[in-house]
Amino acid sequence: MIELSGLNVSERQKSIILDKMDKMGHEQVVFLRDKETGLKAIIAIHNTIMGPSLGGVRMWNYRNEIEALEDVLRLSRGMTYKAAISGLELGGGKAVILGDSSIHKSEALLRRFGQFVESLGGKYITAEDVGMEPKDMEYIKMETNHVTGTVEELGGSGDPSPVTAYGVYMGMKAAAMYRWGNNNLQGRTILIQGIGHVGESLVNHLKAEEANIYINDINQERLDFVSKKYDTKIIDCDSIFDLNMDIYSPCALGATLNSESIQKLKCEIIAGSANNQLEDENKHANQIKEKEIIYAPDFLINAGGLINVYSEIKGFSRERALERTKGIYNITLEILNKSEEDGITTNEAAISIAEQRLENYSKR
Ligand code: NAD
Repeated sequence: MIELSGLNVSERQKSIILDKMDKMGHEQVVFLRDKETGLKAIIAIHNTIMGPSLGGVRMWNYRNEIEALEDVLRLSRGMTYKAAISGLELGGGKAVILGDSSIHKSEALLRRFGQFVESLGGKYITAEDVGMEPKDMEYIKMETNHVTGTVEELGGSGDPSPVTAYGVYMGMKAAAMYRWGNNNLQGRTILIQGIGHVGESLVNHLKAEEANIYINDINQERLDFVSKKYDTKIIDCDSIFDLNMDIYSPCALGATLNSESIQKLKCEIIAGSANNQLEDENKHANQIKEKEIIYAPDFLINAGGLINVYSEIKGFSRERALERTKGIYNITLEILNKSEEDGITTNEAAISIAEQRLENYSKR
């Protein structure tokens, strides 16, 4: 189902949208527009076979509606895979609000968005993503209960980053076991690019294992703070790919794995939290495979955050969420073995396991 009432598109664009939805297998895409508040948003529900679709709402200054649409279609499908591979009874969805979050965001706009989420009757559950802050989620929550990951005072599960970092750490250890026959990271040279919420928590785990940690960030204050607190070395942005490292951990933005960086990379494992690390899913996963680097798929090993909000829906504790996140270790090993046995990239192996689970579930 597609509701185009909020969008100004030509017949040709309409057919492009329907074609994209069809190819990617989306169930429902809703375009929202509210003249009074200036809200322009898209909610994409990719799949609800295993449960309600869940995924954050992102506010971004897209160049046009088609760019926003492409983003939300891709991100919502990614959420389906993430939930399926993590064994959660959730589907995949995502929302994007078009606009500059520092200029166009207002209480009225966010509450209107909340009303739209409410109108979907729980088929889509929202959460915080890029361009949104805890305060914004409070406004959305005034209009709908289909919100997760809000602050603990509002009954939410709070900051998911420590759980995400724990999952990345588990994925990293599984990749180490697969590559070196030993998951001990002591003395291993590990570069963490981006030491924000997740990156810092990951540094904490790795420090406890006495890894040889390098950190990088564009924020000098963060760099100074984290390097002092954990006694780690700093590497500047231009030198990242000159470093001889065992593990490269992208924890900043997506698309850091591209033809140029992969060619330079001197590491044996890639395992980080950033979403969409591969600039081109197929091309770059294959280039990494050709270099015999082990790539732990991002959407699997960063699933701790989703597991955390899932625990909120199910009424689990943070401890249960961490216990479940520990399972990322075994799933990573399963994927790495499958990739080797089937001669496919680790990304393809992860997607195929997720799709298999969805298929088995729908045949029940
Ligand atoms: P954050 O905003 O707290 O931290 C990101 C850090 O990366 C910041 O310190 C920022 O200065 C730095 N950075 C930005 N651009 C950079 C660049 N070009 N080079 C080096 N550093 C750069 O974000 P976070 O919550 O720690 O999330 C990190 C990544 O993990 C994001 O891609 C996010 O989408 C993904 N992720 C996070 C969670 C979670 O639970 N927070 C869950 C799943 C995925």
